[in-house]
Amino acid sequence: MTERERPTKLFDKHDEPIEPDGTDVKKRNVAYYFHKDVGHFHYGQLHPMKPQRLVVCNDLVVSYEMPKYMTVVESPKLNADDIAVFHSEQYVNFLQTVTPRSALSMSDETLKNFNIGEDCPVFPGMWDYCTLYAGGSVEGARRLNHQMNDIVINWPGGLHHAKKSEASGFCYVNDIVLGILELLKYHKRVLYIDIDIHHGDGVQEAFNNSDRVMTVSFHRFGQYFPGSGSIMDKGVGPGKYFSINVPLMAAIRDEPYLNLFETIIRSVNENFDPEAIVLQCGSDSLCEDRLGQFALSFNAHARAVKFVKSLKKPLMVLGGGGYTLRNVARCWALETGVILGLRMSDEIPGSSLYSHFFTPRLLRPTLVAKMNDANTPAYLASIQQETLDCLRMIRGAPSVQMQEINQRGSTTKIEEEVVKMTEKMEEECHVEEAPPTSSSSTSKEFPPGQDPRRIGQYWGYSDGGGGLAPPRSRSDVVEEMKLEEEEKRKQLGFGNLP
Ligand SMILES: [Zn+2]
Repeated sequence: MTERERPTKLFDKHDEPIEPDGTDVKKRNVAYYFHKDVGHFHYGQLHPMKPQRLVVCNDLVVSYEMPKYMTVVESPKLNADDIAVFHSEQYVNFLQTVTPRSALSMSDETLKNFNIGEDCPVFPGMWDYCTLYAGGSVEGARRLNHQMNDIVINWPGGLHHAKKSEASGFCYVNDIVLGILELLKYHKRVLYIDIDIHHGDGVQEAFNNSDRVMTVSFHRFGQYFPGSGSIMDKGVGPGKYFSINVPLMAAIRDEPYLNLFETIIRSVNENFDPEAIVLQCGSDSLCEDRLGQFALSFNAHARAVKFVKSLKKPLMVLGGGGYTLRNVARCWALETGVILGLRMSDEIPGSSLYSHFFTPRLLRPTLVAKMNDANTPAYLASIQQETLDCLRMIRGAPSVQMQEINQRGSTTKIEEEVVKMTEKMEEECHVEEAPPTSSSSTSKEFPPGQDPRRIGQYWGYSDGGGGLAPPRSRSDVVEEMKLEEEEKRKQLGFGNLP
């Protein structure tokens, strides 16, 4: 069923219009990390992760003249020691030295050991890419530690799936874990909130037994990558009740999502009382995302960001997933404005180098959901109740002793509800079918991780047995080719930093 987006108000009387060029404006205490090189890496022609989305996003930020309201910082490159603060030495050495050519001569076992393959290929410049996207998250944390800024933004970061010794889900280095470890040097309790459509498994795993970091992930659950993040997954040892998972079914709409989000985050803020917050803003939770299955509008996604900002805690805002390139750029540019408290015109400025690629030329076009919302009010009420009950188990840890409350008998009921809803959802929901792959491609050899038949196998797409490929419409492919060409052509005139 096709349903039009429910209008969700985003701007309010506190938001100021962007002043015309040349006007003196009040600078917000916000730092924005970017590096001219970070968008110029390529996972592979058919890979759905396109770092180029960062270039387009930054172009929009510049076109809306937002740099004059904030401190723009060139992302520093981390070194191997910085990355080894979380990742194993062996894995860091591997990332630092491997090249597409050297990977060809490595054994399958070695590559498998680090989970290098279809989703996480070895591509040229991979190490530089990791050191750049993580640089903003670590240095951004230091800015918050030293109270240089209230909020730091690093859209290239937010790669939440990477594990201590392996890559996962397009992520190699977990910049979020590195950033939080830095924040923990100066903050007793750090809250991590994840609105990417995928479970923030790498971050939860890293802090699963800690009561100093609370992780809260809102994600699609069921037969969907990475498969973890059930509501019963609450952390272990001293970290029990400090991992909160909000498993959602496909096609959730604005209103139920925001109701749940605000209720839970309000309670988290009251009970955990974080001293700093890290917000991962994966935009694959938007409607019409190539890999995502939620039905959120731009306004709803940005309202979640606005709500977290309203808590007035030192805040680090990061990117994450997002696979419909134009919408990723729109989403994060819009959220940059929301963070700055700016009322943005819905018409994309003509000064944008990519303005003609946005059709319609709007910042927040209406997105159309192709599936029914599989989340029933009863299901949402049950996960909200379970989460709020769980939050009552903590009281401002780690300085305050844990307070146990009576165990409820609802566990089985919730689990049953999840299983029931998952089955129902699988029946109801559908995704666009992948275009047929060329039969000649089946016998061709591809470099590790570049096999188009296998990319996306963990991402919920299957053509029913033969080859596997992420769904791509012809217009997307043509558009991306144009963008790449345009990018090359405009590079010289693009300048270094906004
Ligand atoms: Zn994601």
